[in-house]
Amino acid sequence: MRPIRKLIIHCSDSTFGDVREIGRWHRERGFSLIGYHYVICNGHRTAKAEFSPEVDGLIEYGRTVGMEGAHCYGHNRDSIGICLIGKTEFSNTQMIKLHYLVRSLMLEYRLGPKDVYGHYEFDAGKTCPNLDMAAFRAGLLEEEVEHPISTEYKKPKEQEA
Ligand SMILES: [Zn+2]
Repeated sequence: MRPIRKLIIHCSDSTFGDVREIGRWHRERGFSLIGYHYVICNGHRTAKAEFSPEVDGLIEYGRTVGMEGAHCYGHNRDSIGICLIGKTEFSNTQMIKLHYLVRSLMLEYRLGPKDVYGHYEFDAGKTCPNLDMAAFRAGLLEEEVEHPISTEYKKPKEQEA
């Protein structure tokens, strides 16, 4: 398994989409398959699809985490790419699911809020994912204080000792 040291958040810069749709866009750009590991849908799978509540906040799997992504130049080797469907506005359900997904991945790969980035932090020419990452990390840090992931991890070892 490759080392995972960062989580990088993106947006699709589209008003609709899902793993299947983005996979198609990425293949058109010459990738063998979707570049992201996770996609968080906004309720519209395609341009013509009406809003579907079951699809709002739905987390879909792209590449497997064991496979290197194609989403952030120079940082694919040790990162996981998460894409929010949307341009500059995301639904509450999407934001709740993003928080939940990021927290789960932090727990799994023993990462802290400082290891969570937005694409624009590695590429000055971009605004992707159009989220205030400092505010997003502050939210993660607040929850980390209340429910520390690091402590949850240490517990089994302490019990052994
Ligand atoms: Zn991006």
